Amino acid sequence: MVYELTHFIGGEHVAGGSGNFQDVYDPSAGRVQGRVPLASADETRHAITVAEEAWGAWAETNAQVRARVLMRFVDLVHKDMDNLAQTLSAEHGKTLADARGDVMRGLDVVEVAIGAPHLLKGEYSTQVGRGVDTYSMRQPLGVVAGITPFNFPAMIPLWKAGVALAAGNSFILKPSERDPSVPLRLAELFLEAGLPPGVFNVVNGGKEVVDVLIEDPRVKAIGFVGSTPIAQSIYAGAAAHGKRAQCFGGAKNHLIIMPDADLDMAADALIGAAFGSAGERCMAISVAVPVGAATADALVGKLNERIANLRLGHSFDEEADFGPLVSREAKERVETLIGVGVEEGADLLVDGRGVSVTGYEGGYFVGATLFDNVKPHMRIYKEEIFGPVLSVVRVGDYDEALRVLDESPFGNGVSIFTRDGDSARDFAARVDVGMVGINVPIPVPIAYYTFGGWKASGFGDLNQHGADGFRFYTKTKTVTSRWPSGIRAGASFVMPTGT
Ligand code: NAD
Repeated sequence: MVYELTHFIGGEHVAGGSGNFQDVYDPSAGRVQGRVPLASADETRHAITVAEEAWGAWAETNAQVRARVLMRFVDLVHKDMDNLAQTLSAEHGKTLADARGDVMRGLDVVEVAIGAPHLLKGEYSTQVGRGVDTYSMRQPLGVVAGITPFNFPAMIPLWKAGVALAAGNSFILKPSERDPSVPLRLAELFLEAGLPPGVFNVVNGGKEVVDVLIEDPRVKAIGFVGSTPIAQSIYAGAAAHGKRAQCFGGAKNHLIIMPDADLDMAADALIGAAFGSAGERCMAISVAVPVGAATADALVGKLNERIANLRLGHSFDEEADFGPLVSREAKERVETLIGVGVEEGADLLVDGRGVSVTGYEGGYFVGATLFDNVKPHMRIYKEEIFGPVLSVVRVGDYDEALRVLDESPFGNGVSIFTRDGDSARDFAARVDVGMVGINVPIPVPIAYYTFGGWKASGFGDLNQHGADGFRFYTKTKTVTSRWPSGIRAGASFVMPTGT
């Protein structure tokens, strides 16, 4: 049976009224399992009206009371974990264990946002001039919007909404139309936790919805995560409308393997980081950069051995290492790019094309794929493949590895495997990338630090979550005060200097 999804506006499910729908697939079986409504501009504007009406009272609620709602939400999500993971896995195709990780990494940020009463505190300085005190306060923005990608349907909405709601904003989420069920379930759980209706809304749809969110002056901030071209264009659109925006884009993450590295540790790390979630992670490692021919030969041998033992399966298969890609288009695109790599002259050591899983022959599966001798001018190096494809780029020395990284247009994550503290320290200081791992393959910062890529992986000056999250979702007001019992200086016509 094909289920029909809704929007979630004003604390209730709202049927799509535009007449436009998009199919939601079961990627393991390769069949349609649901359909999601695509909202019209008018439906989107209605959601903004509802969010704006709900905002004032929420903003005036004291931060500790808001935090208590989030505490109850965290508890409810834990209780609903199995259901959430199953729903997520069924629409995305990542394994159940990985789906739980998706939810948990989102909850981490909500838990930190529960510290809002402390995190929203302003500053106070007394006697900045004679009888004059200055203090600052952080105030919520109003209605803010989050536009999120398919690959983390729980984590990224929670990264944004957790902080925005704790800071006293109301929120409109425009999730990916490819796996919209989990965001709708999160909306139900927010309501059950005591969030007032209209403070968290889900509007399903595509570009038409996003255009309204960018253009409508009642939406004060846009948080986006997705592919680089869309991130850049939404950032430009938001800026043109005078809005603050943080827009995170695609990636091509490298892992440097120094000759002194523990090669078994590096190979294990690469296998998990390249093929986990079928490579559909913005922090997946898609490029291995072994330093020196001996390192490269030994590493490739170890990768080959490990790939032979990987298990591809239905996303509910507890034994599977990874499941299918999200859609037929994604599978076709990845398989096409593997063909391009062969034509460009890279050595295809393991070919994941044409695989199938017994009983699920229609599923969008691509097996683990390994290329050696990939060169930086090749398309498979330059483009984000977003599939289970690992490219080995051999370099002669450490400086060449750094040059390769400098020339990459992306700057999301990177990692170095070495036993040498000097090399690691030098690398962390010099590399032009936002998130760095040292003997850690996927350096996704923990919730109380900030997450954000550089170069074409991120547009805007503040990262997600951590202290930056609160800066993004609040505006700072600075108050300078003097009381009548203070010094009366009479009218002054010169710039006050505080002396
Ligand atoms: P996508 O860019 O196709 O879609 C992201 C969101 O934008 C979705 O909600 C989608 O509906 C919307 N959208 C798509 N086309 C649009 C358009 N023309 N105008 C306005 N909105 C539009 O990305 P995706 O395929 O859902 O997700 C995968 C991408 O996200 C990868 O590039 C991945 O690297 C990136 N990603 C980045 C991060 C990060 O933090 N940097 C995290 C996760 C994913």
